[in-house]
Amino acid sequence: MLNSQRKELIETLRKKGITSDLVLDAIKNVNREDFVPDIMKIHAWEDVPLPIGNGQTISQPYTVAFMTSLLDVKKNDKILEIGTGSGYQAALLNYLGAQVYSIERSIELYNSFLKLMDKLQLRIMVRLGDGTIGWNDFAPYDKIIVTASSPTIPKSYFSQLKIGGKIVIPIGDRFQQEMQVVEKLTGNDYKMESYPNFKFVPLVGIDGWKSE
Ligand code: SAH
Repeated sequence: MLNSQRKELIETLRKKGITSDLVLDAIKNVNREDFVPDIMKIHAWEDVPLPIGNGQTISQPYTVAFMTSLLDVKKNDKILEIGTGSGYQAALLNYLGAQVYSIERSIELYNSFLKLMDKLQLRIMVRLGDGTIGWNDFAPYDKIIVTASSPTIPKSYFSQLKIGGKIVIPIGDRFQQEMQVVEKLTGNDYKMESYPNFKFVPLVGIDGWKSE
């Protein structure tokens, strides 16, 4: 990998509106090549989504940077991620100093991320299962990030979130979604914002889509 490719990607992300130096620094320093299949490594520093096996994709760096910026990650934040996939988003959050808990439903992707964590010496808690019910054992979380799209926000996320915490999740139909940001103001008062035009693989589970 050439250093110039990393710099070029950071410039592209800046031009597209990513302003957080912390997020851009994380994108530059977490090696996306480690998270994509061998034949895709030559494209790792391009701002494009890439296949990671099992019909799933690693999002394009712009989308990862945008969601990470919305999450406003602070050191030691306890963050629940749904949809571990390649583990790239989890590794970025970890790089930013968060304690990351991540759930994946595909056993193949889960197993390959366990191997990668070992190789890269990453300390991330991962679980195989249906992330639409959250991960109650370690709740409440400062932030919840969902990297697959759902018709509605799974109910468990509201109760597993701390007051002052945030959820970032793409919501919509199968073809297009908007990125919703939910802030928990009090026990039952939430502030919502959304940003249009995203496209994610489906969140499949008991409180998401019922099939692929
Ligand atoms: N964050 C990932 C993106 C992976 S794509 C990365 O950085 O690479 C979304 C992932 O969500 C897929 O791996 C898919 O298998 C997973 N997924 C879909 N429904 C899920 C569910 N109910 N619980 C956990 N993971 C789910």
